[in-house]
Amino acid sequence: RRATAKKSFMIIGLGRFGANIAKILANMDADVLAIDIDEESVTKVASFIPHCVVADSTKPNVLKELGASQIDHAVVAIGNNLQASILTVLNLKNFGVKKITVRADEEGHKEVYRMLGATEVIIPEEATALSLANQIMSDSILDYYQLAEDYTMVKISVGEGFEPKSIIDMNVRVLFDVNIVGLIKDGKFAIPKPMDLISPGDVLVVVGTKENYMKFENFLN
Ligand code: ADP
Repeated sequence: RRATAKKSFMIIGLGRFGANIAKILANMDADVLAIDIDEESVTKVASFIPHCVVADSTKPNVLKELGASQIDHAVVAIGNNLQASILTVLNLKNFGVKKITVRADEEGHKEVYRMLGATEVIIPEEATALSLANQIMSDSILDYYQLAEDYTMVKISVGEGFEPKSIIDMNVRVLFDVNIVGLIKDGKFAIPKPMDLISPGDVLVVVGTKENYMKFENFLN
């Protein structure tokens, strides 16, 4: 696996969420092994995902045979079965899997998975709702990616009435405590330089807390 320098993923639980992430990763030409305890779930995805097997991830020897210790990143997408999910995370941890992303069904389970060693815990409906809410809250927030609990990367469009200014003159770090990490002019992305002029119709890629990037968004519109 290492020789190909491809990242290797194990996707466990092929319901809607697991099957989708496995498909997307496989399309990105990643090295994906997808497993589910239920034969029908495996059959459904077999034409999209080259490597998928029927297996019970709660059984350590099963994961071992599947090469769990060689996996770079595992996604546990067994949403409906807390016990199976917990045992799976523990197994992955024991095999030394460095990155373990767990899909949780409820808020209260997040902490449990973290304590067991999950590196990331997500509730899909919550992540989607948050992203949608942010999009519809403001016409100028075009896209949104949660980087950490408090930090977000957002695409902000610059309003028609904005008077052009250079990035250095806007003093963004001091006044808004955000970082401009990308500048998109006429659909072309560039790494921003201090002297670059920000004008109406530009799109900025900004990193900051919600409070800070919303203030900046207000300033740009
Ligand atoms: P979604 O909401 O994404 O559709 P589901 O909760 O329906 O997800 O799907 C979870 C999947 O996890 C099911 O396909 C189920 O068969 C699978 N699963 C449950 N227990 C195990 C296990 N021990 N090992 C592997 N897969 C499992």
